[in-house]
Amino acid sequence: ANAPVNITVTGAAGNIGYALLFRIASGALLGPDQRVNLRLLEIPQAVKAAEGTAMELFDSAFSTLGSVDIFDDPKQAFEGANIAFLVGSMPRRAGMERSDLLSANGGIFGPQGEALAAGAADDIKVLVVGNPANTNALIAASHAGDIPASRFTAMTRLDHNRALAQLAAKAGCHVSDIDKVAIWGNHSSTQYPDLTHATIKGEPITDILADREWVENDFIPTVAKRGAAIIEARGASSAASAASAAIDHVRDWCLGTTSAWTSAAVMSDGSYGVPEGVISSFPCTAENGEWKIVQGLEIDDFSRAKIDASAAELVDEKNAVAGMGLI
Ligand code: NDP
Repeated sequence: ANAPVNITVTGAAGNIGYALLFRIASGALLGPDQRVNLRLLEIPQAVKAAEGTAMELFDSAFSTLGSVDIFDDPKQAFEGANIAFLVGSMPRRAGMERSDLLSANGGIFGPQGEALAAGAADDIKVLVVGNPANTNALIAASHAGDIPASRFTAMTRLDHNRALAQLAAKAGCHVSDIDKVAIWGNHSSTQYPDLTHATIKGEPITDILADREWVENDFIPTVAKRGAAIIEARGASSAASAASAAIDHVRDWCLGTTSAWTSAAVMSDGSYGVPEGVISSFPCTAENGEWKIVQGLEIDDFSRAKIDASAAELVDEKNAVAGMGLI
């Protein structure tokens, strides 16, 4: 059997953590033959709740689960980590200034980047889920010493999956019939869910794309504002679907993408005019444990403006954290 894979999850006692840990432990991430050791990081006040979750993991008697350890110190939590899900963050609260939000997250993701550099395994792969995810990932990457920036990613897979689900409902097909949907930019309301290249059973979606009213005034805002709609309906933010998307992202990163491409926020190399040095969503493939931005796609004027606007927001966020000395 393979050696166990060490997986650190931060914010482990939160809503997303609660859904995510059971999926990882049950083999949904790396398959039925790969044992996983879970390392849970929480702030001191939430350690007790994390202990309760660990009891339930223990009680589930998963054949793929090795150990579960709980920490309130990032240095210990990331020791030997092969994979890190950074879920815990300081989300925006009503009345909070942007500078407060960014500095609170600088205080979380800077030290986590340092702790990863100090102790994580050479093959460490990091997915940031906690918002503002793209910029939090940038902060962690910039504190992570020798770890290549390509190992720091942020999650836009839930936006991608939401786009698949919306298109499937519109077209009356199954999500598995769809390929080549892309999310560009920031995981925020400026994200651009792009159907230009989408196919259903290998065929272009010409008629749906021609319905600009639906694409621009229904599809795009529905995907971008889905989180608020879930809160309205459920009385709590999406958690299981976010956890499921996190599983999809890291599974594809480790085992390879099986569709033409998916969406992931990775360090920009300047592709498609997105400035180098911001962590932006692109259509990506994963092979041999590395993300690659899909190259050579034609970008029409509508897409150009949307991609540029979201990239500009990422540059603004980067400049703000740079100005505060957080990167
Ligand atoms: P959740 O588990 O619901 O959310 C965690 C993070 O994920 C938030 O930043 C949230 O951002 C983001 N998120 C939520 N929904 C989505 C989505 N649909 N797509 C993408 N991202 C999403 O929050 P809880 O408050 O339940 O749990 C957070 C936990 O983290 C707490 O237990 C807290 O103690 C812990 N924490 C741990 C830290 C650490 O380990 N060092 C540091 C800070 C907190 P948004 O709110 O914008 O949706």
